[in-house]
Amino acid sequence: MHISLHKQVALVTGGSSGLGAAAAQALAAAGAAVVINYHSQPEPAQALAAQIIAQGGQAVALGADVSREDQVERLFAQTLEHFGRLDILIANSGLQKDAATVDMSLADWNKVVDVNLTGQFLCARSALRQFVAQGMHPDISRAMGKIIHMSSVHQLIPWAGHANYAASKGGVDLLMRSIAQEVGEQKIRVNSIAPGAIRTAINADTTSGDAEDKLLQLIPYGRVGEADDVANAVVWLASDLADYVHGTTLFIDGGMSLYPGFRDNG
Ligand code: NAD
Repeated sequence: MHISLHKQVALVTGGSSGLGAAAAQALAAAGAAVVINYHSQPEPAQALAAQIIAQGGQAVALGADVSREDQVERLFAQTLEHFGRLDILIANSGLQKDAATVDMSLADWNKVVDVNLTGQFLCARSALRQFVAQGMHPDISRAMGKIIHMSSVHQLIPWAGHANYAASKGGVDLLMRSIAQEVGEQKIRVNSIAPGAIRTAINADTTSGDAEDKLLQLIPYGRVGEADDVANAVVWLASDLADYVHGTTLFIDGGMSLYPGFRDNG
């Protein structure tokens, strides 16, 4: 089975590192032109775009803070200037500011919610507006447009010491499902991916050394995930092979959300 995203344009927020970079590479390998959004450091995003272009693909690196309305609107306008259309949004940007709730500053609460939840709303809103403006193009895709929200197993699993992060991802779940309910009739597909523990910069302290052994106790499948585990699913979910998948969350977590603490009778 061959997946082609030929003629499609994908925008990946936070695309210069980790899951976003892997998704951008995989989408480009499947034939999509890719916009690699970065927040503050252009160099890694530009290097990734250059690598994709050197491999015969199409890519551009564009800066924007996804929590800022004006910058998101500029990002989508620049996407159109570069590639003329948008078919796929991977709303991937996210961060953690960890603290016990009693010690958590309002600034750290707001920062996480601003990027992880409001940023997803702002990007989804701009994508929806663009999809509707473009209309249906069955020669390009069976859907008018596709949105994939990057959530987390912590949209489901409570996470002590990370209340801001878990609340933001719980919010992403109902944001995604509400939008999906709203725009399905327009043939716009909206879904989430909920990764478990995937080896990237966001969790480097827990995915190596002794900490990795502890982490593995939480993963029935017995290994930490790699960015490609998520990127492969992104490509499938964005493609017409997943045309009837709408309003759902795909957990890519080696079974982390299966309450593994109950393996030995609880
Ligand atoms: P990462 O730190 O490599 O990637 C996060 C990206 O978001 C970075 O590129 C960063 O520049 C970008 N970003 C941060 N603030 C931004 C802003 N204001 N505007 C635009 N971009 C911004 O980590 P990652 O693991 O690749 O995380 C990607 C997504 O996957 C996040 O939403 C994260 O919550 C989610 N996730 C990751 C894991 C994991 O195990 N790695 C698990 C569950 C969920």
